[in-house]
Amino acid sequence: MILDVKHTNIAYRCPNCGSGVISAVGLFSLSADMVKLKCSSGKSEMTVLYGEDGKLRLTVPCLFCPNPHQFTLSSNVFFKQELFSLPCPYTGINTAVLGELNKVKAELARSELELLDLMEKSGVTDFSALHAAEAEALTDPQIDEIVTYVIKELDAEGKISCKCGAGDEREYDVEVRDDGILVKCRKCGASRLIPTDSRLSAYAFLNADELHLE
Ligand SMILES: [Zn+2]
Ligand SMILES: [Zn+2]
Ligand SMILES: [Zn+2]
Repeated sequence: MILDVKHTNIAYRCPNCGSGVISAVGLFSLSADMVKLKCSSGKSEMTVLYGEDGKLRLTVPCLFCPNPHQFTLSSNVFFKQELFSLPCPYTGINTAVLGELNKVKAELARSELELLDLMEKSGVTDFSALHAAEAEALTDPQIDEIVTYVIKELDAEGKISCKCGAGDEREYDVEVRDDGILVKCRKCGASRLIPTDSRLSAYAFLNADELHLE
């Protein structure tokens, strides 16, 4: 009997210290339990849960969002892709990648450069300043302006989606609040808050090429 040995490599970036955390994951370790990847700083972890339905549920911390993101993948996607990215749904920047070891390592290196570039542009020098909860609130009116501009552009290009059908006429309200900019559909009420209380998350949003309201 030949065993179909399923394994892959998975990596995420710690929101607290910025290091890439990488680990091999096999089906055997998964079926036993939940797999946790932890940063050596002890301040973040990613979990992978193998469900009875054969699907994998991943909880991935995000550099830009206060809460981790959830992803559900089929085991075919999880184990058989050479490289698969799990982007933050609102900045488009990868929160986790999985696949062949060398490809995962290369992607970690690439995303690190992307991140350093983003930090430089936004004037952030320290990973500990990344998180909205810890960073001092920035009330830079320019950030609000830039984010509002990007939202208007996305709207003009038809790249904002909500619960309304694609062909429906919709209108989006944009409201500037202390903790961010709220985009809300007048018709279905779906909304999303773009945090602007961290300079970096605001700048990350500039990379967004679509916006989905929930
Ligand atoms: Zn860390
Ligand atoms: Zn995110
Ligand atoms: Zn709508």
